[in-house]
Amino acid sequence: MASYDFDLFTLGAGSGGVSGSRRAAAYGARVGICEDSIVGGTCVIRGCVPKKLLVYGAHFAEEFADAAGYGWTVGETRFDWATLIANKNREIGRLNGIYKKLLSDSGVKLYEKRGKIIDPHTVEVGGERFTTRRIMIATGARPVAPQIPGIEHSISSNEALDLAELPKRIAIVGGGYIALEFAGIFAGLGSEVTLVIRGNQVLKSFDDDVRETLTEALVRHGIAIRNHTEIVRIDKALGGLTLVTTNGAPLLVDQVLYATGREPNTHAYASTRHANTEGIGLENVGIATDRYGAIAVDEWSQTSVPSIYAVGDVTNRLNLTPVAIAEARALAETLFNDNPTKFDPTDVPTAVFSQPPVATVGMTEAEARVKVGAVDIYRSRFRPLKHTLSGREERTMMKLVVDRATDRVLGCHMVGADAPEIIQGLAIAVKCGATKKQFDQTVGIHPTAAEEFVTMRDKLPDPVAKAAE
Ligand code: NDP
Repeated sequence: MASYDFDLFTLGAGSGGVSGSRRAAAYGARVGICEDSIVGGTCVIRGCVPKKLLVYGAHFAEEFADAAGYGWTVGETRFDWATLIANKNREIGRLNGIYKKLLSDSGVKLYEKRGKIIDPHTVEVGGERFTTRRIMIATGARPVAPQIPGIEHSISSNEALDLAELPKRIAIVGGGYIALEFAGIFAGLGSEVTLVIRGNQVLKSFDDDVRETLTEALVRHGIAIRNHTEIVRIDKALGGLTLVTTNGAPLLVDQVLYATGREPNTHAYASTRHANTEGIGLENVGIATDRYGAIAVDEWSQTSVPSIYAVGDVTNRLNLTPVAIAEARALAETLFNDNPTKFDPTDVPTAVFSQPPVATVGMTEAEARVKVGAVDIYRSRFRPLKHTLSGREERTMMKLVVDRATDRVLGCHMVGADAPEIIQGLAIAVKCGATKKQFDQTVGIHPTAAEEFVTMRDKLPDPVAKAAE
């Protein structure tokens, strides 16, 4: 058998790369990993974690206002963006240190340099070549924006997390996860936010009731929505930017944030907003990518080259941190623990940390009607108890999609406070194939919002039967 410098070499020390490498090393593999940015990857350094800290920061304005209904007089409040960003950066620095320590404690050799594939068993890292039995590509993805004139004046979520000052006016382009999370952050912190979306409502792939409820809530939270609109040009103007749009008057803002999706980190940057960077050498081994640059893999995360695997956002499957981690760990089990493991991509719960947040698991109503046919829908809309005294006009929406033939709960959807915390538990029930009867037999915790999921008894009228009347 050929002898290699490593059993596994990983490109990219983000959530997937780090967890898969550590698991492989725990099974005795000799593992190397390289990273040309900051160890920790998108989620830890410029995604989920810093974003959530900013979401927490943005909530305080509402809490101060809501306190009055409970008898509190809150004195003058003042927000300092620089303090929040400095504290957030300190925490990210701490996490970066922890990630490095986790790698060294598990015996994974870290190279803080850019890596490139030379052949199916060779990688080049900062000019040095290593042989390796297997390669795991876990290079993630980066923001992508349409190449309109003036796009270089825009920012992506990367820059939004580190702006020198809080913009007074910001336009956010897109109606997906990142756009809605940043819309909530900036609006909560006091910016004037305009969401520019090309459709009618936000969150295209989500359940229609979620989309409608959230779209209304965003407006109630003071976010202006310019729908059916695209930006055709960004001009630098005195004291800001002018956005020329396909619909309505130009928008005058201090910043424009594009949250229009992400592209896999496999090829040289095409965006004018970023410096050009080399690819990762896929051409040297003949691994093809799709038109978005994503690497095609099979259900074992294996590419068309048998010794090379890819996990996480670079494969553009389900672009979520816990999925990348699960894919990478499954791979380590398969390759180094004689335990063939495939990641199961069904019923993956997900949340959008908008204000209010959204969380969901399983099928939307529309999807279930196509895939399953006859479904029963249970839906509840109510004012959360907290806001009876705060006076805030806030509505929570919860919805269950049930297979009429088997009584199995196919989907749970929620818009409202704590939705991500609530849906995480329900995701276990959905994964276990729980029926509506079992939901009904579950005793609620009173008084909570979550108990509504086990007390909904009235089905919505069936649209098919209604149409036939
Ligand atoms: P999304 O795919 O969620 O949303 C992209 C949005 O941009 C859509 O509303 C889309 O519109 C719009 N869009 C795309 N192209 C254009 C264009 N040329 N002009 C105008 N609008 C456009 O991408 P994000 O960037 O928000 O996030 C990327 C991924 O990262 C997410 O899909 C998710 O997988 C992951 N993520 C997860 C988070 C979480 O778990 N909480 C948080 C952040 C990111 P349309 O709907 O019309 O196509």
